[in-house]
Amino acid sequence: MDVKVNVESYGSSLQCCVCVYNQARVLQAMRLLGKEANEEVGNHEPNHEKTAELLCNGCKMQRYCSVAHLTEDLEHRDFCRIFQDIQQVESIDHPLFLQGIVLSRTMLNQAISQLKLILSVKLRRPLSLREKEILANPGFCVICYRTTPLNVCAGCAGVAYCSENHRHLDKDNHTPNVCRTLALLYSPYRLLDYEFQIKEFHRSSIIPESHLVEAFYNATLLEVSDRPWKSLQQYDLFAACSSFSTIATVCLALTQISIVAEPDKAVIVYIVGATSECLRYFEEMHLKFFFLQYESVQNLELYFIGNMLKPQEPVDSIICVADLKRTVAKRIIPFTFTRFSKTNKIDPTLIIMLQPDLTGIGNMTNLLVKQFYPRSVEREEPDDRHWPECLTNILHTYGAPICFTSISKVQALSNYSVFNELARENDIVIKRAYNIAENPYRGILPLRNHCAEDSEMIVYTNNYLEVIFTNPKY
Ligand SMILES: [Zn+2]
Ligand SMILES: [Zn+2]
Ligand SMILES: [Zn+2]
Ligand SMILES: [Zn+2]
Repeated sequence: MDVKVNVESYGSSLQCCVCVYNQARVLQAMRLLGKEANEEVGNHEPNHEKTAELLCNGCKMQRYCSVAHLTEDLEHRDFCRIFQDIQQVESIDHPLFLQGIVLSRTMLNQAISQLKLILSVKLRRPLSLREKEILANPGFCVICYRTTPLNVCAGCAGVAYCSENHRHLDKDNHTPNVCRTLALLYSPYRLLDYEFQIKEFHRSSIIPESHLVEAFYNATLLEVSDRPWKSLQQYDLFAACSSFSTIATVCLALTQISIVAEPDKAVIVYIVGATSECLRYFEEMHLKFFFLQYESVQNLELYFIGNMLKPQEPVDSIICVADLKRTVAKRIIPFTFTRFSKTNKIDPTLIIMLQPDLTGIGNMTNLLVKQFYPRSVEREEPDDRHWPECLTNILHTYGAPICFTSISKVQALSNYSVFNELARENDIVIKRAYNIAENPYRGILPLRNHCAEDSEMIVYTNNYLEVIFTNPKY
């Protein structure tokens, strides 16, 4: 049986990734055989018994359980070679020692940022999720930043210490709760695409007063576990609940306006800077959740706008919630918002941007590249979320709430400042309706933050929410 797992979604420098892939394949095979949650199969709590004690001697970044698994990991080769070269050229013992032995978090962050940049320039492509994860969380003692010797926390395999003493010193930070969250983050379940379709929907919630888990429970009568790695079924339910974060965030953003319930007036949502991943958050079950909260809405039109999307035929469907029939139109617009706005009437009820990364705007990135590699280096064409022109066009859409989510507070503040600056340049006034607050409808699956400068180590999708309205100045 050819069992596929989503290897792209995983990366840990402290675990043997081949072992984790293998565990995930076993879980997926069990799922295909319908054995999940079966007593005889037992628990699949993350199993870190087989410790990854072998450090790759080339890059000194990735650990394995054995030489056999090191050689099996072909994906690691390019990464490894580049880090070997860096050590040779710079005559250093560890890639992180680019600017000398690491003695503080600041030095570590600087080294990580430099290595990220060097790697993406040398590979001539954006880094994969795995590469980012390994670089953002290299093996080091969280107390003294030593890279060797290291003992990995057996509970989560997410942090490491040089000694028992330093493990003890970290116990107020690495609480049982943090350890459990990291265990979920690094569990083999995270390599599986969840498969869960919820058909029955029940009660709506008072959206401004509720949160994701509660609203999900009201809607589905399904209770998510706080130990989702106990079984595949519980993990699937947990991941399914997390996937409602985006549609619930749309529901929350819409509470900022009164929706006129004219029977033929559609609610039109633009998802700008959309990627193919966004489509997964607007499946039938998510839309049923939407109509449960907004019973008066009869027609919903979703425009996925982004030049990273592949063209697709328009889809019109009818969705039944209780006894009500609702229509949904999905349109994939595989180009930028600027191009879309030139040829279409722009009249959305809501504009939403999911975790846009606006930091590429400006000359900072180019400067950094030049600093390390004076000869010009081609960088991949950025997607439309990076284009000031698109953002300016979005700001010109007066009257509709513009909602954007960010993964961390630092990212949220930086995104907001980009909007603010563009608004000022274009004589547009911004009114903030939802002011970079923790989003009660953020996802519940933990993610590791790749931004080394950021103090939030664990983040969630749609973690922070900002809703703004724009008006012309005069
Ligand atoms: Zn292994
Ligand atoms: Zn290596
Ligand atoms: Zn230490
Ligand atoms: Zn732990």
